[in-house]
Amino acid sequence: MIAINNLSKYYGQLPVLKNCTLNIKKGEVVVICGPSGSGKSTLIKCINALEPFQRGEINVDGMMLSDKKTNLTSLRQQVGMVFQSFELFPHMTVLDNLLVPQMRILKRQRAEALNKAQELLQRVGLERHGHKYPAQLSGGQQQRVAIARALAMNPKVMLFDEPTSALDPEMVAEVLAVMAELAAEGMTMCCVTHELGFARKIADRVIFMDGGEIIEDAEAETFFTAPVSPRARNFLDQII
Ligand code: ATP
Ligand code: MG
Repeated sequence: MIAINNLSKYYGQLPVLKNCTLNIKKGEVVVICGPSGSGKSTLIKCINALEPFQRGEINVDGMMLSDKKTNLTSLRQQVGMVFQSFELFPHMTVLDNLLVPQMRILKRQRAEALNKAQELLQRVGLERHGHKYPAQLSGGQQQRVAIARALAMNPKVMLFDEPTSALDPEMVAEVLAVMAELAAEGMTMCCVTHELGFARKIADRVIFMDGGEIIEDAEAETFFTAPVSPRARNFLDQII
């Protein structure tokens, strides 16, 4: 579903991704972890073409990102993204946050978009909050709306960049529960997260990055019980 080959990226002279190679199969759940500044967000943004790269290639379900002919709107429709900050449209109600992109991007009729929106709000446990504005919701609720809005595009892949790290502890679980459910339903997912307990439960594979490199790419259980590189071991010792 996602094939990243020898990807390198620089900010000016600064290399931030060095020769990264990573494959994510359909239905696979991959967690990316690593210290601050290691390039996790940059890597995930490259998959969605939110950041350009200088060398290598990313292929998302047959779409080559280095090919100028690739339609970025269609790419971003198929690759849902959820950020640390919720990024909802603040001036729109929850329901409109879910309706407007469906009508503008997918050209769905209002009735069809409304059905989908209601189904998704129910799925994330917010069916009674459609009339509210984002500022009237808790952080955990806003993040669940953000997930529902991304799902409304019928994405083939979901990318998450620390979706719970801006949340108060009591709200983390409700967002992780929605993500775990998505994973169980077979969604292809790539999540940057420090929630390693969650990672251990739902990830098929864990990628450990440091200094712009993929240092380790292992099955989740192997990563947590027997990480190969000293850097990964050190990272786990500090976190757990
Ligand atoms: P964190 O865990 O803190 O979110 P990260 O692993 O997501 O870190 P990135 O945000 O991908 O790390 O950053 C990787 C490197 O790129 C860092 O050295 C960072 O300072 C640098 N960087 C990120 N964005 C930019 C930018 N827009 N311009 C210049 N340098 C940047
Ligand atoms: Mg980051």
